[in-house]
Amino acid sequence: MKILVINSGSSSIKYQLLDMDTESVLVTGLVERIGEAGGVLTATTYPGTGKEKLTRLETTIPDHSTGMKLLIKQISDQQDGVIRDASEIDAVGHRVVHGGESFQQPALITDEVVDAIKANVPLAPLHNPANLDGIRVARQLFAGVPQVAVFDTAFHQSMPPSAFLYALPYELYEKDRIRRYGFHGTSHKYVAFESARILSKPLAECNLITIHLGNGCSMTAVQNGRSVETSLGMTPLEGLIMGTRCGDIDPALHAILHRSRGMDIEEIDAMLNRESGLKGVCGMNDMRDIHAARQQGDRLAKLAFDMFVHRIRKYIGAYFAVLGRVDALVFTAGIGENDREVRKAALAGLENLGIILDHEANGRRPGDWLRISAPESKVELLVVRTNEELEIARQTVEVLG
Ligand code: ADP
Repeated sequence: MKILVINSGSSSIKYQLLDMDTESVLVTGLVERIGEAGGVLTATTYPGTGKEKLTRLETTIPDHSTGMKLLIKQISDQQDGVIRDASEIDAVGHRVVHGGESFQQPALITDEVVDAIKANVPLAPLHNPANLDGIRVARQLFAGVPQVAVFDTAFHQSMPPSAFLYALPYELYEKDRIRRYGFHGTSHKYVAFESARILSKPLAECNLITIHLGNGCSMTAVQNGRSVETSLGMTPLEGLIMGTRCGDIDPALHAILHRSRGMDIEEIDAMLNRESGLKGVCGMNDMRDIHAARQQGDRLAKLAFDMFVHRIRKYIGAYFAVLGRVDALVFTAGIGENDREVRKAALAGLENLGIILDHEANGRRPGDWLRISAPESKVELLVVRTNEELEIARQTVEVLG
């Protein structure tokens, strides 16, 4: 079964064609600068097999429809393509950022589903319209091919009200759906599933703390395979310290900044999302740069690092209390998979929780996964490489039965 996974952004379309009989990637590519000058498609055919072929095509890409036609041409190109024509694609899986409370599961796309995604635009004004562009164009170009929407928020719809509600006037939830939704659900679900496999235990019996540390960062408490608490909230700003996002702050700061600096709401919002987090503290948002600066004795880089790992440790403690029993802590995404210093610092001093790191294992390069707990550790410590495209393709297959 061949599944095309589409992640449509406002000016880009990320895509992957997978053969789900073997769960292997046939093509991975990116159409960029849609509607801007200098449009470009880059793709790798048969990645990671030793038979890779790279494609780079520079051309004007005025809209998503042109971009989608271009990627269809790339995957079905006579010389470099992997299929003869688009009819070989069995289904299309779409990443959709916000499913609100409408979607607890992935959904076969119909007009009603499109309307429900539209109804959630106010919750994700930047992302859902771009996702809808991809869906609209793909439904035109792949008429008759089943299409499935996979939501970043769906995995967290199992949270109980005590975890997802803000302590605000209740009518704000009832009328405006103001509540915590959580994000990165596709990644948390994927690594939870893989962790259960590594632990040789049914997912429905696994209690896990999954720690996704990329540009955006979030943690999820997984109880019996289901999300019961997660750190991102109504928007992807709450919780952990991120590259440019502040994570948890005192909500009174808005009023204080307004009064003391005359900043308006838009300025404060932009600052918290784009000028805060690691970048706000030390001017750098890439953890590799922060390590280099720490080694040069940069005081603020050291402080940003210490704050970043302190916040993770605080959430580990909180999620232990939420779960009661924890089978494994699972690190994933750019920093989680690659950064042994962050893992070491975040886990330091947690021996009383039964968390003991194997320092030698922590220094190894992970393949698809790596066990980094010492034999005497009561809690398993894992690094699992996330794969959101594969998870979207798996869920697409599941929906099609
Ligand atoms: P996104 O959230 O955009 O999907 P990624 O999961 O790719 O991002 O993570 C990107 C971040 O991961 C980078 O900003 C960088 O800080 C970090 N990162 C990537 N590789 C490494 C590495 N080898 N060591 C430390 N940090 C890394």
